[in-house]
Amino acid sequence: MTHPLLDLAPLTPAHFAAIEQRVARLLRTEQDVVIMQGEALLPLEAGIRSGARPGSTALNVVTGPYGQTFGNWLRDCGATVVDLAVPFHTAVTADQVRQAFAEHPEIDFVSLVHAEAATGNTNPVAEIGEVVREHGAMFYLDAVASIGAEPVLPDAWGVDLCVIGAQKAMGGPAGVSAVSVSERAWRRFAENPQAPRASYLSLLDWKARWIDGGRKALLHAPAQLEMLALEACAERIEAEGLDAVMARHATAAAATRAGAAALGVLEPYVYEARDAAPVATTLRAPAGVDASGLVARALAADPALPLAAGGGALAKEMIRVNHYGPDATRGAVHASLAALGAALGEAGLAVDLEAARRAVTGAWE
Ligand SMILES: *Cc1c(COP(=O)(O)O)cnc(C)c1O
Repeated sequence: MTHPLLDLAPLTPAHFAAIEQRVARLLRTEQDVVIMQGEALLPLEAGIRSGARPGSTALNVVTGPYGQTFGNWLRDCGATVVDLAVPFHTAVTADQVRQAFAEHPEIDFVSLVHAEAATGNTNPVAEIGEVVREHGAMFYLDAVASIGAEPVLPDAWGVDLCVIGAQKAMGGPAGVSAVSVSERAWRRFAENPQAPRASYLSLLDWKARWIDGGRKALLHAPAQLEMLALEACAERIEAEGLDAVMARHATAAAATRAGAAALGVLEPYVYEARDAAPVATTLRAPAGVDASGLVARALAADPALPLAAGGGALAKEMIRVNHYGPDATRGAVHASLAALGAALGEAGLAVDLEAARRAVTGAWE
């Protein structure tokens, strides 16, 4: 008996190239797109190891946990790293980036996370891109948590390396990811003796053997399941319309913010709505209430809800509503706030469940 997941025909180079094209359309980019067959950390690490080297100075913007990881990779590559850290409840501004260039004109690489699912903020990439372009630095962007939830426009914004993954607002599985690479970035990689070559982390291998070879021969057998899932994911977004998918995420975020406020005891973790990411909404647990305990109580009622506590040190104070992908719906937001409200009630707090319900419905209409 044939099995739908196991008995697959090999994925042809033409099919692989067609999936690449679909991803390029999603990013509205003319740049080369390299699909890396691994979780998004693969192209994230590959981009830094290809572009960073001793003698270069990198501005690493830290607005959440991923920025910290990028700083470590940059240092490991021998680059001098200027960390620009802003509190997780806000976003970085283009002026802060301009100031960093004024203090360190030698900066030739900028790493930035667009939206942070882990902390719920989003950064003004278009404005920051203008500053980066004025200074001619290479611009590396982690758009894993923004793609599908808000516009991601590497060409318009001057992004040289734009990394995406399927597992957040694209509504796909973890395990497929892609990066768009500008001509400038390819040149910089080629001039970097340290850039990975003949390695699973190598972007240059894909350039030399796949792209420059006319996309005729793949470097290794492609991961069929993941590639088919990525294709299905892109098809589903195209069928709904990327704008409609993004609007669904923006509404889910606005509804969650409004509903949480209406409950009466939950503050948004990200102070200003304009800094809040459409992909996920973070909330601050009331004083004296442990966020992870509260989330555990809410999940005990319904384990399928898209709720989590903050990671690491944030577990005590941060509640995350991961309203992305198939959970960017009115139903998921209503259910999440109802479950959080019930858990807060059990903890002895007075909450207004009906006001929260009305606020969510209002935001949706
Ligand atoms: C989710 C996410 C990733 C991917 O990492 P996982 O934790 O493995 O899902 C990378 N960058 C950002 C900003 C993310 O939100």
